[in-house]
Amino acid sequence: MDYPVIYEVDRDGVITHVNDAWNHFARENDSPNLIADEVIGSKLADHISSIELRHLFQAVYERARIEETFITLPFRCDSPDTERLLEMRITPLQTDGLQFTINPISLSTREPIHLLNMNLDHSHGLISMCSWCKSIQVKENQWEELSAAIKDLGIFETSELPRITHGICKPCGEKFLREGLTA
Ligand SMILES: [Zn+2]
Repeated sequence: MDYPVIYEVDRDGVITHVNDAWNHFARENDSPNLIADEVIGSKLADHISSIELRHLFQAVYERARIEETFITLPFRCDSPDTERLLEMRITPLQTDGLQFTINPISLSTREPIHLLNMNLDHSHGLISMCSWCKSIQVKENQWEELSAAIKDLGIFETSELPRITHGICKPCGEKFLREGLTA
């Protein structure tokens, strides 16, 4: 990964700019649909899968615009062999758009987790993962830390991998809404 990853949206949430690090990130995550040529001119919200997350982001964008200051959000974005804690800085632009800058807080390598390898077949069932803390929903209203959940759900080291949908777990959602975000 190269850092910082930078992208910008206009006042309507349409992506207007991505940097080379973004393209590198898209290629590394095997997402050719996210390379600059494809992504510029599309709505950022269309790339966010869950409704809760879209609402949360909307609240963050509005706050950045109203307060005319940047907001930082820590989030987990693991690859199969690296635990990545990143920080997203959302800065309002003069044009009423927003700039997003992503930098690493900490990166640590670990044994590869197949669940996160998107090159493998993920067609067996569906699980929800929190975009912030990477916990996994094991039951309704119950989320567990990634490696614990993989053990409990018995999906460790299996060739039958579920698809992952990204959302936000209850503790992270409540934390953001209650305490706001560290600026
Ligand atoms: Zn969470």
